[in-house]
Amino acid sequence: MSIKVKNPIVEIDGDEMARIIWHMVKERLLHPYVDMETIYYDLHVKRRDETDDQITVEAAHAIAQYGVGCKCATITPNEARVQEYGLKKAWRSPNGTIRGILDGTVFRAPIMLKNIPPTVRTWKKPIIIGRHAYGDVYKNQEIQVPGPGRGELVFTPADGGEPIRLTIQEFAGPGVLQGIHNTEKSIRSFARACIQYAIAQRVPLWFAAKDTISKTYHAFFRDIFQEEVNAHQAEMEAAGVTYFYTLIDDAVARVIRHEGGILWACTNYDGDVMSDMLASGFGSLALMTSVLVSPDGPMEFEAAHGTVQRHYYAHLKGEPTSTNSTAIIFAWTGALARRGTLDGTPEVVDFCKRLEAAVIETIESGMMTKDLVRVCDPPVDQPATTEGFIDAVRNRLESKL
Ligand code: NAP
Ligand code: MG
Repeated sequence: MSIKVKNPIVEIDGDEMARIIWHMVKERLLHPYVDMETIYYDLHVKRRDETDDQITVEAAHAIAQYGVGCKCATITPNEARVQEYGLKKAWRSPNGTIRGILDGTVFRAPIMLKNIPPTVRTWKKPIIIGRHAYGDVYKNQEIQVPGPGRGELVFTPADGGEPIRLTIQEFAGPGVLQGIHNTEKSIRSFARACIQYAIAQRVPLWFAAKDTISKTYHAFFRDIFQEEVNAHQAEMEAAGVTYFYTLIDDAVARVIRHEGGILWACTNYDGDVMSDMLASGFGSLALMTSVLVSPDGPMEFEAAHGTVQRHYYAHLKGEPTSTNSTAIIFAWTGALARRGTLDGTPEVVDFCKRLEAAVIETIESGMMTKDLVRVCDPPVDQPATTEGFIDAVRNRLESKL
Protein backbone atom coordinates (compact mmCIF):
# COMPACT_ATOMS: atom_id res chain seq x y z
CA MET A 1 0.00 0.00 0.00
CA SER A 2 1.38 3.42 -0.87
CA ILE A 3 -0.29 6.78 -0.36
CA LYS A 4 0.58 9.37 -2.95
CA VAL A 5 1.68 12.82 -1.74
CA LYS A 6 0.75 15.25 -4.49
CA ASN A 7 3.30 18.05 -4.08
CA PRO A 8 6.88 18.03 -2.76
CA ILE A 9 8.09 18.73 0.77
CA VAL A 10 11.36 20.57 1.34
CA GLU A 11 13.56 18.16 3.31
CA ILE A 12 16.42 19.65 5.30
CA ASP A 13 18.90 17.09 6.56
CA GLY A 14 21.11 17.75 9.56
CA ASP A 15 23.77 16.40 11.90
CA GLU A 16 24.79 13.67 14.32
CA MET A 17 22.26 11.39 16.07
CA ALA A 18 19.30 13.40 14.80
CA ARG A 19 20.51 12.68 11.25
CA ILE A 20 20.82 8.93 11.96
CA ILE A 21 17.25 8.85 13.31
CA TRP A 22 15.99 11.03 10.45
CA HIS A 23 16.99 8.34 7.94
CA MET A 24 15.70 5.48 10.09
CA VAL A 25 12.30 7.18 10.34
CA LYS A 26 12.15 7.71 6.60
CA GLU A 27 13.20 4.14 5.76
CA ARG A 28 11.08 2.33 8.33
CA LEU A 29 8.01 4.51 8.91
CA LEU A 30 7.50 6.62 5.79
CA HIS A 31 8.87 5.10 2.58
CA PRO A 32 6.97 1.79 2.97
CA TYR A 33 3.65 3.67 3.19
CA VAL A 34 3.88 7.03 1.45
CA ASP A 35 5.06 7.91 -2.02
CA MET A 36 6.51 11.40 -1.59
CA GLU A 37 8.89 13.61 -3.47
CA THR A 38 11.23 15.77 -1.41
CA ILE A 39 13.35 18.74 -2.44
CA TYR A 40 16.46 17.74 -0.52
CA TYR A 41 18.94 20.12 1.14
CA ASP A 42 21.82 18.65 3.07
CA LEU A 43 22.67 21.02 5.94
CA HIS A 44 25.32 18.74 7.38
CA VAL A 45 27.83 21.14 8.91
CA LYS A 46 30.48 20.17 6.31
CA ARG A 47 28.09 20.93 3.41
CA ARG A 48 27.32 24.31 4.94
CA ASP A 49 31.05 24.94 5.23
CA GLU A 50 31.71 23.91 1.61
CA THR A 51 28.98 26.24 0.32
CA ASP A 52 29.88 29.14 2.62
CA ASP A 53 26.42 28.54 4.16
CA GLN A 54 24.61 29.34 0.90
CA ILE A 55 22.85 25.96 1.14
CA THR A 56 21.02 27.22 4.25
CA VAL A 57 19.80 30.33 2.46
CA GLU A 58 18.65 28.22 -0.52
CA ALA A 59 16.79 25.82 1.77
CA ALA A 60 14.91 28.70 3.40
CA HIS A 61 13.89 30.10 0.00
CA ALA A 62 12.75 26.64 -1.07
CA ILE A 63 10.40 26.48 1.93
CA ALA A 64 8.98 29.85 0.91
CA GLN A 65 8.47 28.48 -2.62
CA TYR A 66 6.99 25.06 -1.84
CA GLY A 67 5.12 26.04 1.33
CA VAL A 68 6.10 23.07 3.52
CA GLY A 69 9.47 22.12 4.99
CA CYS A 70 10.70 19.50 7.44
CA LYS A 71 14.02 20.06 9.16
CA CYS A 72 16.45 17.83 11.05
CA ALA A 73 18.48 19.30 13.93
CA THR A 74 21.75 20.91 12.90
CA ILE A 75 24.96 21.85 14.68
CA THR A 76 25.36 25.54 15.43
CA PRO A 77 29.15 25.70 15.25
CA ASN A 78 31.17 27.12 18.13
CA GLU A 79 34.98 27.07 18.47
CA ALA A 80 34.96 23.40 19.50
CA ARG A 81 32.93 22.44 16.42
CA VAL A 82 35.19 24.49 14.13
CA GLN A 83 38.08 22.33 15.43
CA GLU A 84 36.13 19.07 15.34
CA TYR A 85 34.99 19.43 11.72
CA GLY A 86 37.83 21.60 10.41
CA LEU A 87 35.44 24.41 9.41
CA LYS A 88 36.39 27.70 7.75
CA LYS A 89 34.51 29.59 10.46
CA ALA A 90 31.77 29.33 13.08
CA TRP A 91 28.80 29.74 10.73
CA ARG A 92 25.58 31.30 12.01
CA SER A 93 22.80 29.19 13.50
CA PRO A 94 20.91 27.64 10.53
CA ASN A 95 17.64 28.08 12.39
CA GLY A 96 18.48 31.75 12.91
CA THR A 97 19.18 32.17 9.18
CA ILE A 98 15.98 30.36 8.18
CA ARG A 99 13.89 32.35 10.67
CA GLY A 100 15.45 35.58 9.42
CA ILE A 101 14.32 34.76 5.87
CA LEU A 102 10.88 33.33 6.64
CA ASP A 103 10.21 35.76 9.55
CA GLY A 104 7.29 34.33 11.41
CA THR A 105 6.47 32.71 14.72
CA VAL A 106 7.67 29.44 16.23
CA PHE A 107 4.95 27.40 17.96
CA ARG A 108 6.14 24.75 20.40
CA ALA A 109 3.69 22.23 21.80
CA PRO A 110 4.43 19.29 24.11
CA ILE A 111 3.04 15.82 23.37
CA MET A 112 1.26 14.66 26.54
CA LEU A 113 1.08 10.96 27.42
CA LYS A 114 -0.90 9.10 30.10
CA ASN A 115 2.19 7.55 31.69
CA ILE A 116 4.51 10.59 31.48
CA PRO A 117 3.23 12.96 34.16
CA PRO A 118 4.53 16.54 33.92
CA THR A 119 6.98 17.52 36.63
CA VAL A 120 4.63 20.38 37.48
CA ARG A 121 1.61 18.63 38.87
CA THR A 122 -0.94 21.33 38.02
CA TRP A 123 -0.22 20.97 34.28
CA LYS A 124 -3.07 18.89 32.84
CA LYS A 125 -3.12 20.19 29.26
CA PRO A 126 -0.39 21.39 26.90
CA ILE A 127 1.02 24.88 27.35
CA ILE A 128 1.92 26.01 23.86
CA ILE A 129 4.51 28.72 23.30
CA GLY A 130 4.30 31.11 20.37
CA ARG A 131 7.76 32.61 20.06
CA HIS A 132 8.27 35.72 17.97
CA ALA A 133 11.09 34.61 15.69
CA TYR A 134 12.43 37.97 14.52
CA GLY A 135 14.79 40.57 15.94
CA ASP A 136 15.59 41.72 19.49
CA VAL A 137 18.80 40.29 20.91
CA TYR A 138 19.04 37.74 18.05
CA LYS A 139 19.75 40.50 15.55
CA ASN A 140 21.74 42.87 17.74
CA GLN A 141 24.88 44.93 17.51
CA GLU A 142 27.20 45.00 20.48
CA ILE A 143 30.22 46.98 21.52
CA GLN A 144 32.68 46.10 24.22
CA VAL A 145 33.43 49.57 25.54
CA PRO A 146 37.19 49.88 26.09
CA GLY A 147 37.18 52.91 28.38
CA PRO A 148 35.62 56.29 29.21
CA GLY A 149 33.26 57.77 26.61
CA ARG A 150 29.64 58.31 25.64
CA GLY A 151 27.34 55.50 24.48
CA GLU A 152 24.54 56.83 22.24
CA LEU A 153 21.42 55.63 20.47
CA VAL A 154 21.00 57.36 17.10
CA PHE A 155 18.28 57.17 14.45
CA THR A 156 18.96 58.87 11.12
CA PRO A 157 15.78 59.40 9.04
CA ALA A 158 16.05 58.32 5.40
CA ASP A 159 14.29 61.51 4.27
CA GLY A 160 17.14 63.69 5.46
CA GLY A 161 15.33 64.85 8.60
CA GLU A 162 17.04 65.68 11.86
CA PRO A 163 18.58 62.59 13.57
CA ILE A 164 17.19 61.47 16.92
CA ARG A 165 19.99 61.08 19.44
CA LEU A 166 19.85 59.75 23.01
CA THR A 167 22.63 59.21 25.49
CA ILE A 168 22.57 55.69 26.87
CA GLN A 169 25.47 56.06 29.26
CA GLU A 170 28.44 58.28 30.02
CA PHE A 171 31.06 55.62 30.65
CA ALA A 172 33.66 56.37 33.30
CA GLY A 173 35.49 53.14 32.46
CA PRO A 174 35.16 49.89 30.48
CA GLY A 175 31.72 48.32 29.91
CA VAL A 176 29.37 46.94 27.25
CA LEU A 177 26.72 48.38 24.92
CA GLN A 178 23.98 46.71 22.89
CA GLY A 179 21.56 47.90 20.21
CA ILE A 180 18.46 45.89 19.33
CA HIS A 181 15.43 46.50 17.13
CA ASN A 182 12.14 45.16 15.90
CA THR A 183 9.70 46.23 13.20
CA GLU A 184 6.01 47.03 13.34
CA LYS A 185 5.42 44.70 10.38
CA SER A 186 7.04 41.72 12.09
CA ILE A 187 5.29 42.34 15.43
CA ARG A 188 1.94 42.61 13.65
CA SER A 189 2.42 39.34 11.80
CA PHE A 190 3.55 37.70 15.07
CA ALA A 191 0.33 38.85 16.73
CA ARG A 192 -1.76 37.67 13.76
CA ALA A 193 -0.06 34.26 13.66
CA CYS A 194 -0.77 33.79 17.39
CA ILE A 195 -4.40 34.88 16.98
CA GLN A 196 -4.89 32.47 14.06
CA TYR A 197 -3.26 29.61 15.97
CA ALA A 198 -5.39 30.29 19.07
CA ILE A 199 -8.54 30.33 16.92
CA ALA A 200 -7.57 27.08 15.15
CA GLN A 201 -6.81 25.35 18.48
CA ARG A 202 -9.63 27.12 20.36
CA VAL A 203 -7.36 28.02 23.28
CA PRO A 204 -7.05 31.24 25.29
CA LEU A 205 -4.26 33.56 24.12
CA TRP A 206 -1.85 35.16 26.54
CA PHE A 207 0.82 37.73 25.79
CA ALA A 208 3.34 39.16 28.19
CA ALA A 209 6.16 41.70 28.04
CA LYS A 210 8.06 44.00 30.39
CA ASP A 211 6.23 47.23 29.57
CA THR A 212 6.57 48.64 33.08
CA ILE A 213 10.33 48.95 32.57
CA SER A 214 10.55 49.27 28.79
CA LYS A 215 7.93 51.96 28.34
CA THR A 216 8.58 52.40 24.60
CA TYR A 217 10.02 49.15 23.18
CA HIS A 218 7.95 46.60 25.11
CA ALA A 219 4.94 48.92 25.22
CA PHE A 220 5.05 49.01 21.41
CA PHE A 221 4.70 45.19 21.34
CA ARG A 222 1.81 45.38 23.83
CA ASP A 223 -0.03 48.06 21.82
CA ILE A 224 0.41 46.41 18.40
CA PHE A 225 -0.75 43.09 19.84
CA GLN A 226 -3.83 44.77 21.34
CA GLU A 227 -4.64 46.48 18.03
CA GLU A 228 -4.54 43.14 16.22
CA VAL A 229 -6.70 41.52 18.88
CA ASN A 230 -9.24 44.35 18.49
CA ALA A 231 -9.19 43.92 14.71
CA HIS A 232 -9.93 40.17 15.06
CA GLN A 233 -12.41 40.46 17.94
CA ALA A 234 -15.36 38.95 16.06
CA GLU A 235 -13.43 35.88 14.85
CA MET A 236 -11.99 35.33 18.31
CA GLU A 237 -15.36 35.61 20.01
CA ALA A 238 -16.90 33.19 17.51
CA ALA A 239 -14.22 30.63 18.42
CA GLY A 240 -14.51 31.39 22.15
CA VAL A 241 -10.91 32.65 22.29
CA THR A 242 -10.08 35.13 25.04
CA TYR A 243 -7.06 37.44 25.20
CA PHE A 244 -5.08 38.21 28.32
CA TYR A 245 -2.15 40.62 28.60
CA THR A 246 0.03 40.68 31.68
CA LEU A 247 3.59 41.45 32.79
CA ILE A 248 6.10 38.73 31.91
CA ASP A 249 6.89 38.10 35.61
CA ASP A 250 3.21 37.67 36.36
CA ALA A 251 2.78 35.34 33.37
CA VAL A 252 5.66 33.12 34.57
CA ALA A 253 4.20 32.97 38.07
CA ARG A 254 0.75 32.08 36.71
CA VAL A 255 1.95 29.49 34.16
CA ILE A 256 3.69 27.43 36.82
CA ARG A 257 0.40 26.89 38.66
CA HIS A 258 -1.94 26.82 35.67
CA GLU A 259 -3.68 23.71 34.36
CA GLY A 260 -2.56 24.46 30.77
CA GLY A 261 -4.53 24.47 27.56
CA ILE A 262 -3.33 27.96 26.59
CA LEU A 263 -1.22 29.61 23.90
CA TRP A 264 1.42 31.77 25.51
CA ALA A 265 2.78 34.35 23.05
CA CYS A 266 6.32 35.35 23.98
CA THR A 267 8.85 37.85 22.70
CA ASN A 268 11.89 36.24 21.08
CA TYR A 269 14.11 35.87 24.14
CA ASP A 270 11.31 34.93 26.55
CA GLY A 271 10.15 32.26 24.09
CA ASP A 272 13.66 30.86 23.74
CA VAL A 273 14.09 30.45 27.49
CA MET A 274 10.54 29.51 28.46
CA SER A 275 10.18 26.84 25.77
CA ASP A 276 13.15 24.95 27.26
CA MET A 277 11.64 25.24 30.74
CA LEU A 278 8.31 23.88 29.45
CA ALA A 279 9.96 21.04 27.48
CA SER A 280 11.73 19.72 30.53
CA GLY A 281 8.65 20.30 32.72
CA PHE A 282 6.47 18.27 30.37
CA GLY A 283 8.83 15.27 30.52
CA SER A 284 11.46 15.34 27.77
CA LEU A 285 12.85 17.55 25.03
CA ALA A 286 12.03 14.67 22.71
CA LEU A 287 8.30 15.20 23.33
CA MET A 288 8.37 18.82 22.17
CA THR A 289 7.19 19.63 18.65
CA SER A 290 8.08 22.84 16.86
CA VAL A 291 6.74 24.62 13.81
CA LEU A 292 7.80 27.90 12.22
CA VAL A 293 4.81 29.68 10.70
CA SER A 294 5.71 32.35 8.16
CA PRO A 295 3.27 35.27 7.73
CA ASP A 296 2.67 34.38 4.08
CA GLY A 297 1.71 30.79 4.93
CA PRO A 298 4.81 28.57 4.56
CA MET A 299 5.54 26.28 7.50
CA GLU A 300 8.67 24.51 8.63
CA PHE A 301 8.33 21.56 11.02
CA GLU A 302 11.11 20.24 13.25
CA ALA A 303 11.86 18.60 16.59
CA ALA A 304 12.64 21.09 19.34
CA HIS A 305 15.71 19.13 20.49
CA GLY A 306 19.21 19.33 19.04
CA THR A 307 21.53 16.81 17.38
CA VAL A 308 21.94 14.70 20.60
CA GLN A 309 25.73 14.68 20.31
CA ARG A 310 26.53 12.39 23.26
CA HIS A 311 24.33 9.61 21.86
CA TYR A 312 25.96 10.03 18.44
CA TYR A 313 29.43 9.35 19.82
CA ALA A 314 28.11 6.22 21.54
CA HIS A 315 26.53 5.18 18.23
CA LEU A 316 29.82 5.74 16.36
CA LYS A 317 31.60 3.48 18.86
CA GLY A 318 29.06 0.77 18.06
CA GLU A 319 27.36 1.02 21.46
CA PRO A 320 23.59 0.57 21.62
CA THR A 321 21.69 3.86 21.96
CA SER A 322 18.32 4.73 23.39
CA THR A 323 17.44 7.98 21.62
CA ASN A 324 13.83 9.08 21.43
CA SER A 325 12.58 9.59 17.86
CA THR A 326 9.12 10.91 18.85
CA ALA A 327 9.63 14.60 18.01
CA ILE A 328 11.35 13.73 14.72
CA ILE A 329 8.44 11.47 13.73
CA PHE A 330 6.00 14.26 14.65
CA ALA A 331 8.01 16.75 12.55
CA TRP A 332 7.38 14.48 9.56
CA THR A 333 3.70 13.90 10.36
CA GLY A 334 3.26 17.65 10.89
CA ALA A 335 4.81 18.43 7.51
CA LEU A 336 2.98 15.65 5.67
CA ALA A 337 -0.37 16.56 7.22
CA ARG A 338 0.14 20.20 6.26
CA ARG A 339 1.05 19.11 2.71
CA GLY A 340 -2.05 16.90 2.62
CA THR A 341 -4.26 19.75 3.83
CA LEU A 342 -2.89 22.16 1.21
CA ASP A 343 -3.10 19.51 -1.53
CA GLY A 344 -6.63 18.37 -0.59
CA THR A 345 -5.49 14.77 0.00
CA PRO A 346 -7.23 13.61 3.21
CA GLU A 347 -5.67 10.13 2.92
CA VAL A 348 -2.25 11.71 3.62
CA VAL A 349 -3.62 13.52 6.69
CA ASP A 350 -5.25 10.29 7.85
CA PHE A 351 -1.96 8.37 7.58
CA CYS A 352 -0.30 11.02 9.77
CA LYS A 353 -2.98 10.62 12.45
CA ARG A 354 -2.46 6.86 12.47
CA LEU A 355 1.30 7.17 12.72
CA GLU A 356 1.02 9.67 15.59
CA ALA A 357 -1.45 7.38 17.37
CA ALA A 358 0.96 4.45 16.89
CA VAL A 359 3.76 6.45 18.59
CA ILE A 360 1.54 7.49 21.51
CA GLU A 361 0.15 3.99 22.06
CA THR A 362 3.63 2.45 21.89
CA ILE A 363 4.87 4.70 24.69
CA GLU A 364 1.67 4.33 26.70
CA SER A 365 2.02 0.53 26.46
CA GLY A 366 5.36 0.84 28.31
CA MET A 367 7.76 0.66 25.33
CA MET A 368 9.95 3.75 25.51
CA THR A 369 13.49 5.15 25.37
CA LYS A 370 15.67 5.96 28.37
CA ASP A 371 14.78 9.67 28.60
CA LEU A 372 11.16 8.68 29.31
CA VAL A 373 11.93 5.65 31.52
CA ARG A 374 13.41 8.17 33.98
CA VAL A 375 10.12 10.04 34.36
CA CYS A 376 7.55 7.33 33.61
CA ASP A 377 4.74 6.42 36.01
CA PRO A 378 4.06 3.49 36.47
CA PRO A 379 7.80 2.72 36.24
CA VAL A 380 9.26 0.72 33.36
CA ASP A 381 12.47 -1.23 33.97
CA GLN A 382 13.81 -1.83 30.47
CA PRO A 383 14.41 1.06 28.05
CA ALA A 384 14.03 0.39 24.34
CA THR A 385 16.91 0.90 21.94
CA THR A 386 16.63 3.61 19.29
CA GLU A 387 15.85 1.01 16.60
CA GLY A 388 13.69 -1.14 18.92
CA PHE A 389 11.36 1.77 19.59
CA ILE A 390 10.98 2.64 15.90
CA ASP A 391 10.28 -1.01 15.06
CA ALA A 392 7.64 -1.22 17.81
CA VAL A 393 5.97 1.88 16.35
CA ARG A 394 6.05 0.25 12.92
CA ASN A 395 4.39 -2.93 14.22
CA ARG A 396 1.63 -0.90 15.80
CA LEU A 397 1.21 1.21 12.68
CA GLU A 398 0.87 -1.96 10.56
CA SER A 399 -2.09 -3.02 12.69
CA LYS A 400 -3.76 0.35 12.01
CA LEU A 401 -3.52 0.37 8.21
P1 NAP B 1 20.34 18.42 22.50
O1 NAP B 1 20.94 17.83 21.29
O2 NAP B 1 18.89 18.70 22.46
O3 NAP B 1 20.68 17.45 23.69
C1 NAP B 1 20.63 17.79 25.05
C2 NAP B 1 20.40 16.55 25.90
O4 NAP B 1 19.00 16.30 25.95
C3 NAP B 1 21.00 15.27 25.33
O5 NAP B 1 22.34 15.14 25.67
C4 NAP B 1 20.10 14.22 25.90
O6 NAP B 1 20.39 13.99 27.27
C5 NAP B 1 18.73 14.91 25.85
N1 NAP B 1 18.03 14.68 24.57
C6 NAP B 1 17.78 15.59 23.59
N2 NAP B 1 17.08 15.02 22.60
C7 NAP B 1 16.89 13.73 22.95
C8 NAP B 1 16.24 12.63 22.32
N3 NAP B 1 15.66 12.76 21.12
N4 NAP B 1 16.23 11.45 22.96
C9 NAP B 1 16.81 11.31 24.16
N5 NAP B 1 17.45 12.31 24.80
C10 NAP B 1 17.48 13.51 24.21
O7 NAP B 1 21.07 19.81 22.86
P2 NAP B 1 22.61 20.22 23.02
O8 NAP B 1 23.38 19.08 23.58
O9 NAP B 1 22.58 21.50 23.73
O10 NAP B 1 23.11 20.50 21.54
C11 NAP B 1 23.73 19.54 20.68
C12 NAP B 1 23.90 20.16 19.31
O11 NAP B 1 22.62 20.41 18.76
C13 NAP B 1 24.64 21.48 19.31
O12 NAP B 1 25.63 21.47 18.29
C14 NAP B 1 23.57 22.52 19.02
O13 NAP B 1 24.09 23.57 18.25
C15 NAP B 1 22.55 21.73 18.26
N6 NAP B 1 21.14 22.20 18.41
C16 NAP B 1 20.38 22.26 17.29
C17 NAP B 1 19.04 22.61 17.38
C18 NAP B 1 18.24 22.67 16.12
O14 NAP B 1 18.76 22.46 15.03
N7 NAP B 1 16.95 22.92 16.20
C19 NAP B 1 18.46 22.87 18.62
C20 NAP B 1 19.25 22.76 19.76
C21 NAP B 1 20.60 22.42 19.65
P3 NAP B 1 21.36 12.82 27.81
O15 NAP B 1 22.69 13.05 27.11
O16 NAP B 1 21.39 13.09 29.27
O17 NAP B 1 20.76 11.51 27.45
MG1 MG C 1 16.36 27.87 24.10
